[in-house]
Amino acid sequence: MASEELNPFKIAQQQLDKAAEIMDLDPAAHAMLREPMRTLIVRIPVKMDNDTVKVFTGFRVQHNDALGPTKGGIRYHPNETLDTVKALAMWMTWKCSIAGLPYGGAKGGVICNPKEMSMNELERLSRGYVREVWWFIGPEKDIPAPDVYTNPQIMAWMMDEYSKIRGFNAFGVITGKPISVGGSLGRRDATARGGIVHIREAAKYLGIDLKKAAVAVQGYGNAGYYAAKLSRVLLGCKVVAVSDSKGGIYDPKGLDPDLVLKHKSESGSVIDYPGATNITNEELLELDVDILIPAAIENQITSKNADRIQAKMVAELANGPTTPEADEILHERGIFVIPDFVCNAGGVTVSYFEWVQNITGYYWSEDEVHSKLDRIMANAFRSMVNTFEDYRRKITPRTAAYIVAVKRVVQAMKDRGWI
Ligand code: GLU
Repeated sequence: MASEELNPFKIAQQQLDKAAEIMDLDPAAHAMLREPMRTLIVRIPVKMDNDTVKVFTGFRVQHNDALGPTKGGIRYHPNETLDTVKALAMWMTWKCSIAGLPYGGAKGGVICNPKEMSMNELERLSRGYVREVWWFIGPEKDIPAPDVYTNPQIMAWMMDEYSKIRGFNAFGVITGKPISVGGSLGRRDATARGGIVHIREAAKYLGIDLKKAAVAVQGYGNAGYYAAKLSRVLLGCKVVAVSDSKGGIYDPKGLDPDLVLKHKSESGSVIDYPGATNITNEELLELDVDILIPAAIENQITSKNADRIQAKMVAELANGPTTPEADEILHERGIFVIPDFVCNAGGVTVSYFEWVQNITGYYWSEDEVHSKLDRIMANAFRSMVNTFEDYRRKITPRTAAYIVAVKRVVQAMKDRGWI
């Protein structure tokens, strides 16, 4: 057997090709959707604290804007590649489409290691990135947001630089901002909160009693921590294992996510948490739990470990945690996967709310954000499951979600007269 494909863009294309075949997709539509519409590569010179100049490489990829201005985060990562950004941009198109948002998909990235940079260097890099891409983005064109290793402060610098260049306050150019400069209430935990709605709906659909369910969460960043906390608080589940890049911890009696977070901020990792057993990230994935939440990075569930996953449900809060081969194995084994662009669409949904509030200048309460988010996530879940049922559960939930998302983008391309 040929070795398994791990290039995220090739994986994204394979997923699309599979849906295209099943839905008998028009060849012109398929050709449009297999590649991004626009790709920008920039070089960013940054004055470092030691007075040398370091030149960074940045990307912004707009996959498809048939449904509206493109939307998607910016990642700061030492291993960032153009292909990863292209994959993530394509997944954003499907994410916005299945959530019914008036957006296309985009993504950005800068090759850098933010952990080794000072705040001043990060500010100069973020402003430098905007000086290179400002003409490519805009509130009605392409709206960035936070992603891996970027945060509200970085969004504030970027919004400020863009506003200075354009000569007016353009809060709507970027989302995930601090509340003081047009951020939305409820954005911080939005990705996890959206995932929790999907888990709730999936549990109803599969007949899982959440009050008796054990949960394992891989990754303890923004998405992972809130997923652990909200599974306990909102769903009444028992969180038995969590992990970060250094390793994981397991306690069958259940963990308190806030105490684990405190331990991580004091010691630098969740590992060595008092009373729990240290485990590896690989072991965490294979635990005997009801719900597994990958909330870290790509390619965690592959053909190598998919037959050892014991969870009844995999809720993908990370982007791209399961390879296509693994997806098939899980499906054959009767494990229900809530695919990434459905499960983690809560972040971009509240980003959309933020943009609407910026454009109208009228700000909402947190309760309003929560209830609107809940409705949009539940609708997205229902549209995926309806298609899954239409195909008598013979396709994966991911392919079902692709069919729904692709159809909407194709309709917009047709109505615009592109194809
Ligand atoms: N970066 C997040 C995602 O992958 C949010 C994107 C956004 O808010 O635009 O969905």
